[in-house]
Amino acid sequence: MRIVGVDFGGTTFTVGLVDAESGEILREEQHETRAWEGFEKITSRVAEVVNFIKEDAEAVGIGSPGSILNGVVKFSPNLPDWRDVPLADRVRELTDLPTFVENDANAFVLGEKWFGAGKGYDHIVALTLGTGVGGGVITHGILLKGYLGIGAELGHVIVEPNGPKCGCGNYGCLEAIASATAMVRMAKELKDEFPNSEIFKSNEISARVIMDAARDGDELGRKIRDRAIDALARAIAGFAHIFNPQIVILGGGVSRAGDVLLKPLRKKVKGYLMPSFINTFEVVISPLLDKAGVLGAASVALENLRR
Ligand SMILES: [Zn+2]
Repeated sequence: MRIVGVDFGGTTFTVGLVDAESGEILREEQHETRAWEGFEKITSRVAEVVNFIKEDAEAVGIGSPGSILNGVVKFSPNLPDWRDVPLADRVRELTDLPTFVENDANAFVLGEKWFGAGKGYDHIVALTLGTGVGGGVITHGILLKGYLGIGAELGHVIVEPNGPKCGCGNYGCLEAIASATAMVRMAKELKDEFPNSEIFKSNEISARVIMDAARDGDELGRKIRDRAIDALARAIAGFAHIFNPQIVILGGGVSRAGDVLLKPLRKKVKGYLMPSFINTFEVVISPLLDKAGVLGAASVALENLRR
């Protein structure tokens, strides 16, 4: 079976034709979202690309940022005029294919379940460490959504009381410490204290630059990395105590740091766990890398067709 996966974002969208059996992306196209064009125009362009690429596809799956309920985007932080817009219905009308939409973090955990590190597991916790921190939970084989369908906002657990301010209005959320955005912000705030840090020799400060500096022994780099790791460890231990997962999967830009992040994180997580939870689950980095978005989106359709 073939599925079209649409990894939709505020800056770009990627459309891929996915072979559901092998997880291979047969064709792929990336385009600018041009958020200012508004819902009708943007969705027309998305549908155009889907129609161009959809050869023999049976359904469309979309992963989109924001709060999404039954195919309707209730609110999306990067698309200011998207309020209660019927994304699934619109794309279904324009492509003539069954279309399913899910929040991008939920799409990520579904992608891991169908094609990634979560294959064969029924209890998965996933975190995407990017511009923000997204969360997705699969428990007893089912995507956890909660009463209004907006649950599993794992990035907004408070891990540092009185910590940095988060975009959500709270202080000390995981997202305010362990997202790429938060790490860059911290580096800039501490520039006067660490004027000679390697981080400031780079043209553009990014999470990557900070993690590389940390790996090379840079004091500020280590400070920011260790704070992010501690925040992640507290959060992951908490999620483990609540969901009792088989695996915790990390994705997004920050996770690309690899072992520099993973090794100390695993150790820290253990320190926060109840004894009965130690060695009951793995913490891994997503193997899907650049394919995670499109495969996650395709998995949204697969998950719905399965029912
Ligand atoms: Zn928050």
